[in-house]
Amino acid sequence: MKPRLSCFEVVLPFKVPFTTSFGTQSERHALLFRLEADGVVAYSECVTDVGPHYSYEDNYTAMHIIREYLAKFVEDLPVPKVFLERSEAVKGHNMAKAALEMLLWDYHSKLSGKPIHEYMGGSKGYADVGISIGMDKVEKVVARVGEAIQRGYRRVKVKIERGREHEILGAIREVYPEIPLTADANCDYRIKDIEILKSLDRYNLVYLEQPLDHDDLVDHAKLRKQISTPICLDESITSPDKARKAFEIGAADVVNIKPGRVGGFTNSLEIARIARDQGGHVWVGGMLETGIGRAFNVALASHSLVDYPGDTSPNDKYFEQDIVKNPFKMIDGRIKPNTGPGIGVDVDLDYLIKVSIKMTRIV
Ligand SMILES: [Mg+2]
Repeated sequence: MKPRLSCFEVVLPFKVPFTTSFGTQSERHALLFRLEADGVVAYSECVTDVGPHYSYEDNYTAMHIIREYLAKFVEDLPVPKVFLERSEAVKGHNMAKAALEMLLWDYHSKLSGKPIHEYMGGSKGYADVGISIGMDKVEKVVARVGEAIQRGYRRVKVKIERGREHEILGAIREVYPEIPLTADANCDYRIKDIEILKSLDRYNLVYLEQPLDHDDLVDHAKLRKQISTPICLDESITSPDKARKAFEIGAADVVNIKPGRVGGFTNSLEIARIARDQGGHVWVGGMLETGIGRAFNVALASHSLVDYPGDTSPNDKYFEQDIVKNPFKMIDGRIKPNTGPGIGVDVDLDYLIKVSIKMTRIV
């Protein structure tokens, strides 16, 4: 039977607007995919947003690439690895590719009757959880750090930007000198800012995330030689090959893996292997996903190759109401992946339809 592939464009408001060095988001505008075949219903989420600010992709380009070029590669329901090989015919557009690659992971794990973390293999059965706190007035940021510690998060990450780094990190360290703290600059600095970046060593961060340009490796390697704070790469690592090069030239100590950024789960696992083989550390990031994308991230974050806490916070932190009826619960800073087949989410179809601004039949 020919599969049926559809897309729901949904808008979910955030409880608190989320500010990074590239702007403020007050709602998540997500593309959710649904695949029906052989009595199985699979879901996935594309992590693009309305604008090309985290990367060059956005919701419009992702829909275009999926409809025109990628959808035909899922029609015979291949295993994810085969889809990935076929999709090499399209250059870049990893977020679009990941949406379908992960849809096939959900489909095939559901078909096997196993939860996705078991189907993938190598799961520890839990994921250590950290929190990502956006920029705001410094008193509010410090208050949110305090709340995060109370809730048991295993590390706290704050967003910083050029000119606000000492204000934010200084205020946090004054109150919480010992907590595992990291800072994410989302590419806001250049190598000419090296003296500012060196001055961050005083805050004893677990790592500094993506200080330099979104596709840079060489300047990160230069910077890493001159600071004692470990460097974590996020935006720059878009493929296993980029991960290999980053470690080969000494550009990174840590990698934040976002399956959407790297084309899906297959590449995520390969990047994790490369990083750990090189003595690096790995954690799983987030793109403010709904409960569907989050379920994938938690499954991946439970893999034994992932050794640092990730941004896989329960979604009640972000949304008033999520589109899944079985949200994750965090206990002692840990989350367990869902136990039902595939991603194991119980999608609230009525609410999904209510928050959809567009529904498209693709295949
Ligand atoms: Mg980041």
